[in-house]
Amino acid sequence: MKDQTTKNKCLLLNSDYSPIRILSWKQAIIIDFKYKENNNSPIEILAYHENNFIHGVGQKVFFIPSIIRIKRYFNLYNKKINFSRKNLFIRDNFSCQYCGKGFPNNQLTYDHVVPKSRYKPDLKDSTNWTNIVTSCRHCNARKGDKTPQEAGMRLLTKPYIPNYENKYLSWHTELHTIYMDDPSYEVWKPFIKKPI
Ligand SMILES: [Zn+2]
Repeated sequence: MKDQTTKNKCLLLNSDYSPIRILSWKQAIIIDFKYKENNNSPIEILAYHENNFIHGVGQKVFFIPSIIRIKRYFNLYNKKINFSRKNLFIRDNFSCQYCGKGFPNNQLTYDHVVPKSRYKPDLKDSTNWTNIVTSCRHCNARKGDKTPQEAGMRLLTKPYIPNYENKYLSWHTELHTIYMDDPSYEVWKPFIKKPI
């Protein structure tokens, strides 16, 4: 097996050709096997990595799929966005909601707008989309256990429950940081450029 294979990923598309997620080459090969066994396959393979294959039994070689499309529409847009650190930073565009500056992931924190200890009616419910904002360490420390008014700080946006958008999908972040400058993924570009 060539070392190259480990870096070959596969783009999984919805029936309308919009990206759903990025698969590892191993996942893609498994889907490819099933696809070849089934005349009525629920997926189709749109492209293979031309230079990368794995050796099977005997002299057989298997090319690694580069783009797979599922034939039945998979509705992602009715999904709720999970409340998580990562999704919170994505909602707030990786920027502090007090000073407006952008920071890398590891320098961001999350801040309870109404301090946890004073959240009503039940302080257990204080950690939710509408009471949490992304904050840099400096602003978080400055705000401390106060409300923005008490601390004399202005919140740039009112925290909200986000609707589904592609920016919350794992392929979105992965793609723009790793793959788009690599020529082996040139064939993905027409699908990524679809309006999102
Ligand atoms: Zn800040």
